[in-house]
Amino acid sequence: MAEVLVLAEHADGAVKKVTLEMLTAAARLGEPAVVWTGPGVEAARERLAAHGAARVYVADSADYADYVVAPKAELLASLVAEKAPAAVLIAGTAEGKEIAGRLAVKTGAGVLTDAVEVVAGQDGSPLVTQANFGGAITVHSVVRRGAPIIAVRPNAIQPVAAQGAAEVTEVSVTLSDAARTAQVTERVATEKGARPDLTEAQVVVSGGRGTGSEDGFKIIETLADAIGAAVGASRAVVDAGWYPHQFQVGQTGKTVSPQLYLAVGISGAIQHRAGMQTSKTIMAINKDPEAPIFEIADFGVVGDLFTVVPQLLEEISKRNG
Ligand SMILES: Cc1cc2nc3c(=O)[nH]c(=O)nc-3n(C[C@H](O)[C@H](O)[C@H](O)COP(=O)(O)OP(=O)(O)OC[C@H]3O[C@@H](n4cnc5c(N)ncnc54)[C@H](O)[C@@H]3O)c2cc1C
Repeated sequence: MAEVLVLAEHADGAVKKVTLEMLTAAARLGEPAVVWTGPGVEAARERLAAHGAARVYVADSADYADYVVAPKAELLASLVAEKAPAAVLIAGTAEGKEIAGRLAVKTGAGVLTDAVEVVAGQDGSPLVTQANFGGAITVHSVVRRGAPIIAVRPNAIQPVAAQGAAEVTEVSVTLSDAARTAQVTERVATEKGARPDLTEAQVVVSGGRGTGSEDGFKIIETLADAIGAAVGASRAVVDAGWYPHQFQVGQTGKTVSPQLYLAVGISGAIQHRAGMQTSKTIMAINKDPEAPIFEIADFGVVGDLFTVVPQLLEEISKRNG
């Protein structure tokens, strides 16, 4: 059975959930083989094995962290030439999509981004569901040339437990000078609170201009904390300086696909929807019954958020005892 390469997303040895999601997709197409860059594989191996990784190719060089994206694309290109995989799966993050594009140029293969489902087609090759044009159109696509490169949207595929050997093989690639042109000179860790990561969260509570002010937006944080959710924001909120840009959801922000997305005081402009409309369940609170968000909401409450959210908090607190 041909291998399917999965480029691991990890931070300090902790495997990101999207890696496990990609392993589940990879098992549908062939034998899942993780490509791990940098240190930390020992701590991760058990988790990778528990999600079906047959093999783990480890390129433990500082180059992958010291230089921006290009070394990872060169590593993958070399593995594609050597292993002739059935497909290459990469997380559909900003970095992952850039790696996918570079790899496609290097290998001459087709690339599919924003994949929300990956299955084996009739001939066994990947049949990919893509949320295109900001999620407005869903298409089914196949790659006709080369080993298909697929950028998989985080949170779109349910990871399934499966036993694999996760046999470690060291690999090393001689990187070109061109791969070392964009160097990382400094890393500044963002302060991480107790809240889950926005793109990986099961529940996201997002606030819009309806919150009225920086102070008003605090009600979004309170609601998120009451249900263990991540906080998101519309661009209007971010542009007004009420909340940091890294939490913006939408076309020019993050793409999220949680089990539950709560849009509070958000109109539901197409650019916002582009980042959240593949959420499994959408709930909206808005005082305008004509707000476009209600067109895609599974549940909607028409009302003033400063009346509705405190009632919601009261109910949550009663349930939590
Ligand atoms: C190129 C481009 C890229 C963009 N990218 C993004 C993006 O990534 N993400 C994004 O979000 N936007 C993006 N936008 C902006 C987008 O078009 C909208 O302007 C933006 O999403 C509006 O944010 P909002 O819904 O918070 O504000 P508004 O559109 O002003 O909506 C506020 C909503 O709150 C409701 N409301 C007001 N007060 C209350 C209250 N007390 N209780 C309940 N409801 C209330 C109103 O009825 C209204 O529906 C982009 C635009 C462009 C042109």
